Amino acid sequence: MIAAASSTLLQHVSSVSVANIVRPASARNLSTAAAAAAASSSPRSLSAAQSDTRVLLGLSEPELQQLAVDLGQEGYRGKQLHHLIYKRKVKEVDDFSQLPKAFRNVLQEAGWKVGRSPIFRTVTAADGTIKLLIKLEDNRLIETVGIPVNDDKGLTRLTACVSSQVGCPLRCSFCATGKGGFSRNLQAHEIVEQVLAIEEIFKHRVTNVVFMGMGEPMLNLKAVLGAHRCLNKDVEIGQRMITISTVGVPNTIKKLASHKLQSTLAFRYTNCHS
Ligand code: SF4
Repeated sequence: MIAAASSTLLQHVSSVSVANIVRPASARNLSTAAAAAAASSSPRSLSAAQSDTRVLLGLSEPELQQLAVDLGQEGYRGKQLHHLIYKRKVKEVDDFSQLPKAFRNVLQEAGWKVGRSPIFRTVTAADGTIKLLIKLEDNRLIETVGIPVNDDKGLTRLTACVSSQVGCPLRCSFCATGKGGFSRNLQAHEIVEQVLAIEEIFKHRVTNVVFMGMGEPMLNLKAVLGAHRCLNKDVEIGQRMITISTVGVPNTIKKLASHKLQSTLAFRYTNCHS
């Protein structure tokens, strides 16, 4: 559930640098449920169709260069791929018009897709906040929210509130997402594409990202860290502009701290992620 308006979204949050984390006592009442969920929320199998898909989104520039070489191209074609995916934000391999048709065909025949999903529905609030429902390849829906903040000079900040799971295993009593149960973890590219979808809707760069949508990000840490890397290095959102919000999951916080991110970890005490 991402029903919070921009004015309430960041309430009841205590933030610390990821590199300097001490979990507050008030977060510990969720520890038992979180520990149980951490033990039981390993990624469920994706559908056969999804696991067969090769997705360009989420790959770094060196990885794209290697892919180009592996497909018999010059390495600079990978740099072009990176530009098309992250700068031009092209959504289909067919539309990579700067690349030779033969290379596009090779990519498609090898099963590569950009990895952008259709926007199923949008809901706009009076304050300009827009909630997007994105339909994933396995037909599951995830929610993401764009929160614009204007000043006298026009739009200056656009925050993307992204989901990290389809549903959530923690089942916090006050949260509709929790009541709906847990389907699966998102993959890193499925987190990144939420940010790109918000940029598409608002026709503006996302300046801030908060992991405060569906799901508990600390229960999907590998994908969250992968998305964090991509959002920082490829989409070029500053690490300090990225906030990971958690209700507090035992044994994951030290792991996150070990990555020495310059981002913020926000502990939520009483309210919903979403
Ligand atoms: S509040 Fe957050 S952790 Fe709790 S059920 Fe909702 S999405 Fe999950």
